[in-house]
Amino acid sequence: MAPSSTPVSLPALPDGFLPALKRIVGDRGLLTKAEGILPHVTEQRGRFVGATACVVKPGTTGEVAQVIKLCQDHDIAIVPQGGNTGLVSAGIAFAEDRAIILNLSRMNKVRNLDPLNNTMTVEAGCILQNIQEAAAKADRFFPLSLGSEGSCQIGGNIASNAGGINVIRYGNTRALVLGLEVVTADGEIWDGLRSLRKDNTGYDLKQLFIGSEGTLGVITAAVLKLFPAMKERSTAFIGLRQLDDAPPLLGLAQSLIGEALNSFELIPRIALDFALKHGQDITDPLGQPYDWYILLEASAGTPQANLPLLFESFLEQALEAGLIHDAALAQNTAQADSFWRLRENITLCQKAEGGSIKHDIAVPLSAIPAFISKANAAVESYLPGIRPYPFGHIGDGNIHYNLSQPPGMDINDYLAHWDRLNRIVHDIVVDMGGSISAEHGIGRVKLEENLHYKSPLEIRMMQQIKQSLDPKNLMNPGKLLPVSPRS
Ligand SMILES: Cc1cc2nc3c(=O)[nH]c(=O)nc-3n(C[C@H](O)[C@H](O)[C@H](O)COP(=O)(O)OP(=O)(O)OC[C@H]3O[C@@H](n4cnc5c(N)ncnc54)[C@H](O)[C@@H]3O)c2cc1C
Repeated sequence: MAPSSTPVSLPALPDGFLPALKRIVGDRGLLTKAEGILPHVTEQRGRFVGATACVVKPGTTGEVAQVIKLCQDHDIAIVPQGGNTGLVSAGIAFAEDRAIILNLSRMNKVRNLDPLNNTMTVEAGCILQNIQEAAAKADRFFPLSLGSEGSCQIGGNIASNAGGINVIRYGNTRALVLGLEVVTADGEIWDGLRSLRKDNTGYDLKQLFIGSEGTLGVITAAVLKLFPAMKERSTAFIGLRQLDDAPPLLGLAQSLIGEALNSFELIPRIALDFALKHGQDITDPLGQPYDWYILLEASAGTPQANLPLLFESFLEQALEAGLIHDAALAQNTAQADSFWRLRENITLCQKAEGGSIKHDIAVPLSAIPAFISKANAAVESYLPGIRPYPFGHIGDGNIHYNLSQPPGMDINDYLAHWDRLNRIVHDIVVDMGGSISAEHGIGRVKLEENLHYKSPLEIRMMQQIKQSLDPKNLMNPGKLLPVSPRS
């Protein structure tokens, strides 16, 4: 069950706790007034409002360690928070957690950039877009890219193992991290800031913290992998002949464009219609309407790769093979940006059509057309008039399977079907060997669904890891794993 929406309240803290916090972080590092706290306990989509007595913003790793030790001494739980753009209520505190929020935004320095080693050491509170820009200034490229990149932080990206639009080529965040600095649940500082591509000296501990949703420790800094700056990019907006042709089209693109292929995103006609109706500065890149579109992009570090030629040859062969109806090849950066604007408006414009029940699923790429057709049939039979709205990173087998409400239905009546529709869709996903959370994580919102589908052994092994690294269960309790009594 999803957490219910509760008003901001201020759970009591032990005497002397707040003054001790203030001595560590100073006045500017502590928020205790409701208006300052509210944005930190309000979930991104505004669905849930949590509660906490304070938000603490340490400025250094040493301060993070002192805050955690203080919390250990007083048995106060900690919710680490980055940009609060997460979509599963993992980065906000709820009243029953009796937790403070530890926000990393003041730790926003680039500590080092080594262009010869192609690495960059950054503090956890750096905004993703600032990291991309710092890499570009050094003629390098940091490939993690998501719709929230103007406000999410690298610590949050790492803790949620974010995906985004370049995963086909560069992998998830996990593949982009070489080293971490972490403050453990005991308040000790682990300096794992290695900038090595080879290091077989035991368990790869950083992997435990990547994707752990703040439940094992606080990430304070990271060494990131950089790549040569991209000098050329080619972008196409393609009208598919039918959805079944998407996997073979990706296969053809991979064989002809090779590893220069970055992005392969699915857009249904309904999303283009909503974007044209509700978005600003959106145009249909193709003259005729088609049921399904692919937004495809490739980039190269050297002009010699001759991307435009490769692209043209790929599109010709796709047309000859009867996989596509039509395609628009961006003629300049502005046109490429306009294709991406359309993609980025998909969620926003869906909101204008009323309630949306969401899924962030993955199935093997080859099974995507079958998944969409089975899921559409199941949800339409459960609630006639419902409008399936599947889009996203299809090249990774990841679909944001959103469901728009039937026109005219009361939004609250519609949203009351959330859990039932989740179960209908997730049953199909799991039957096909898929995942109920491809990139957004589990947090609080998908906790029960995850317990329902994951094997008891897998949950038990995760609990054992949690117990050994956070025996008092103070790190983000109730997220990812069910709350166990605090010892
Ligand atoms: C418009 C939009 C588009 C998005 N697109 C994508 C997408 O394409 N792919 C994708 O994967 N996600 C996407 N997201 C979801 C979200 O942006 C990502 O999950 C992002 O990585 C969260 O970063 P954040 O800094 O906002 O973290 P938060 O939301 O603040 O926190 C997320 C989790 O990380 C933990 N955490 C945060 N900082 C730390 C730290 N320093 N140490 C330990 N734990 C920490 C929190 O406790 C929480 O569990 C999107 C969100 C929006 C609003």
